[in-house]
Amino acid sequence: MNGRPARPLLVRHRDVERAGGSAGRFHRVSVGRGLVPRLVTGALGTFCVDTTDRVHAITYDDGPDPEQTPPILDVLRHWDAHATFFVLADAVRRHPDVVARIVAEGHELALHGTDHRSLLTLSDAEAVATVRAAKRLVEDVAGRPVRLFRPPYGAHTLRQAVGFRRLGLDLVLWSGDAVDWLDDDAEAVADRAVDAVFPGGILLLHDTRADPETIRPGERLPAFDRAAVLDRLLSRTRAAGFRELTAGELVGRYRRVTSLARQRMVRP
Ligand SMILES: [Zn+2]
Repeated sequence: MNGRPARPLLVRHRDVERAGGSAGRFHRVSVGRGLVPRLVTGALGTFCVDTTDRVHAITYDDGPDPEQTPPILDVLRHWDAHATFFVLADAVRRHPDVVARIVAEGHELALHGTDHRSLLTLSDAEAVATVRAAKRLVEDVAGRPVRLFRPPYGAHTLRQAVGFRRLGLDLVLWSGDAVDWLDDDAEAVADRAVDAVFPGGILLLHDTRADPETIRPGERLPAFDRAAVLDRLLSRTRAAGFRELTAGELVGRYRRVTSLARQRMVRP
């Protein structure tokens, strides 16, 4: 697409979840055109973009992690692929060497917050203040500006979203995941990741799980090889003709798909 991408498309969240069949056709299921103020659509998070081009973004949340991030970077290098890492400022402070490698190898560094607390537990002013401080810390460590933000759990209020935008942050969520926050066989996780890929999709993966304290009875924390999952994913998506863009490249080149995703906008 040439020139400035058009105004975002607003769709129902279930249309994002079924996006495999909607890629490049989100305009057909868009809702609320002309009814929702531009301030609102501009502040809503981007779930994916509308294209039939076989491009997608691989994104990693909750790192950097000194054990698990480097093998993921090795696989990305092997495939000459680039990903977007949504990092936590607390982990960035502890592991600046991993951040330096992410940046040096051409990946996109983006913000996931200070820690993994839901921003819905904070006042709007506190939430924006903590994100402002986290952005500054990550930028100081990385030596470059951070443009994209994905709040923990994708959870935020509309007022917070307007505040993030004033900080110069672009809210980027995701259109598919691999349930890689629980243990499973690497093969099964990779299958789910591949199933979640579609043209214009933004795939959510994790280089670590930052909230192990939220594990429920009967659940097991991930022990599978995350680098092996990525290797399987890339071997299958490349064979299917996909290439990876960073999330920033995707939203910069194509028309964004946003959604009200009501459950994410309202305080519990
Ligand atoms: Zn997270």
